[in-house]
Amino acid sequence: MTRESMEYDVVIVGAGPAGLAAACRLRQLNEELSVCVVEKGSEVGAHILSGAVLEPTALNELFPDWKDRDAPLLTAVSGDEIHVLRNARNNIRVPGLFVPKTMRNEGNYIISLGNFCRWLSTQAENLGVEVFPGFAAAEVLYHDNGSVKGIAIGGMGIDARGEHKDSYTPGMELHAKYTLFAEGCRGHLGKELIAGFNLDAGKDPQHYGIGIKEIWKVPDEKHQPGLVVHTAGWPLDESGSAGGGFLYHLEDNQVSLGLIVDLSYSNPHVSPFDEFQRYKHHPVIRRHLEGGDRIAYGARAIVKGGLQSLPRMSFPGGLLIGDDAGTLNFAKIKGSHTAMKSGMIAAEVVAEALGAGRAGDELSEYATAYEASWAWRELHLQRNFGPAQHKWGNILGSAFAFIDINICNGKLPFTLRDPTPDHAQLKPAKDCKPIPYPKPDGVLSFDKLSSVFLSNTNHEEDQPCHLVLKDPELPIRHNLPLYDEPAQRYCPAGVYEVVENAQGEPVFQINAQNCVHCKTCDIKDPEQNIAWVAPEGGGGPNYPNM
Ligand SMILES: Cc1cc2nc3c(=O)[nH]c(=O)nc-3n(C[C@H](O)[C@H](O)[C@H](O)COP(=O)(O)OP(=O)(O)OC[C@H]3O[C@@H](n4cnc5c(N)ncnc54)[C@H](O)[C@@H]3O)c2cc1C
Ligand code: SF4
Repeated sequence: MTRESMEYDVVIVGAGPAGLAAACRLRQLNEELSVCVVEKGSEVGAHILSGAVLEPTALNELFPDWKDRDAPLLTAVSGDEIHVLRNARNNIRVPGLFVPKTMRNEGNYIISLGNFCRWLSTQAENLGVEVFPGFAAAEVLYHDNGSVKGIAIGGMGIDARGEHKDSYTPGMELHAKYTLFAEGCRGHLGKELIAGFNLDAGKDPQHYGIGIKEIWKVPDEKHQPGLVVHTAGWPLDESGSAGGGFLYHLEDNQVSLGLIVDLSYSNPHVSPFDEFQRYKHHPVIRRHLEGGDRIAYGARAIVKGGLQSLPRMSFPGGLLIGDDAGTLNFAKIKGSHTAMKSGMIAAEVVAEALGAGRAGDELSEYATAYEASWAWRELHLQRNFGPAQHKWGNILGSAFAFIDINICNGKLPFTLRDPTPDHAQLKPAKDCKPIPYPKPDGVLSFDKLSSVFLSNTNHEEDQPCHLVLKDPELPIRHNLPLYDEPAQRYCPAGVYEVVENAQGEPVFQINAQNCVHCKTCDIKDPEQNIAWVAPEGGGGPNYPNM
């Protein structure tokens, strides 16, 4: 069976804020254009995980009448608290005067980004965009001249050995005049394009964190709709790691909370999942959760390198937009509005090029348009925030950021660099302090398996493993003796285990069906030996409203 193909003016990979904003803007500008969006989740929003406090700047531009269109921005921020957790019991609340500008949320909304994307997808469909959930873009297609021709959706019904099952259906090719890649943080096709077109030449390596998140339903007397709490310090400072926590009260007695662990950590004993579980026991956090029930769990990597790590976003035949490129503002821990704006600018550039009869060439004018936008200015203002945190740690780094952003308005005459990739930061396990994580109590803290259960993750079991080891022996030969195989701990879904075979020898086991598509293994493996590739469309988590 050969692959069939369909032709579009524009194909967009990923129905997140970037992809959907681009799709809507394209049809707003020209309703003759044929535009389709493919999404690997079983439905739009199923793979979206965010905080999320939304800054509505880009939304105001895209749909100024969003209130009349019933956009799910139901909870306006009513107050901000920032706490430095000094240890497992004590904290200091940062006085309002010293709160960095970037952390003030007046005028913003606490939302479920998954529900917001479902709403954006409906707006896109009403504008005439074709949205295809359950379809994973598995391959980039190229013209003979090397420009991007479109993408191929992976075939269905291929067994674990690569043989066709009775249910086999070949993938479909989607060809386009321009293809926009909006896969979010560490997109696997984006990674191929960055390497293939050398888009990151002269840039710092990209930097990442992993965000582990839960949603709790809390009793009426605990619910403070609109409250935003951020924390720094404990528990990550115990292992010299960076990152911070968030806790937001949204509608329907829900509290969404999480811990973002900077993936530059050097102690291979660190387990981001277990850090988050003990984090919830701190009095500043537990007082919001006691008497409540955990109703959802998930994890997702977050991109944080900022301007110094932002690759060139154009290449012949397409653009990289949103977090696939890395447009997130980490000083605000917000990337939805900047991802949307990058998608809207892409739509404007693409519509103009198509109007001029162009196709398949490089839209180099995108760089100029993006640099003239408020989204670029935001990244420029906060450019030293991430590198300062890596250089001097959370507390001193934040003090520097306060001076740089609040007092000097981002105008200090220098730009800090951060040249070491996160995967190269690990030290040998024997040189680092083991971390005795407490056992979960089943009330505030839980184990990985019961957590993954709450993510409703599901993959067809008999399919090729979507976690590909370049060297299958390396985990046992190299990573186990040197780093006590850190994948056992950095994976938030228990996918990687070291077990014993019948001869008592260690074996690296991959439970791929548990994968929540966070992409951490692709980022943090010290030898870059693990490649995440798209499994059959529709597989992965089924987040209700993350
Ligand atoms: C823990 C955490 C907290 C955050 N908090 C906030 C916050 O409070 N406020 C804020 O503004 N931002 C926050 N962010 C960042 C924000 O979520 C992102 O910046 C934003 O979602 C980026 O949008 P995007 O469209 O680029 O990518 P995503 O939102 O990641 O969307 C990408 C979409 O593409 C799909 N996809 C990927 N690959 C393929 C493929 N090959 N084929 C088909 N589909 C594919 C994915 O399934 C997904 O639906 C947070 C992020 C995390 C992880
Ligand atoms: S296997 Fe990789 S992508 Fe999947 S959940 Fe684990 S770390 Fe994340």
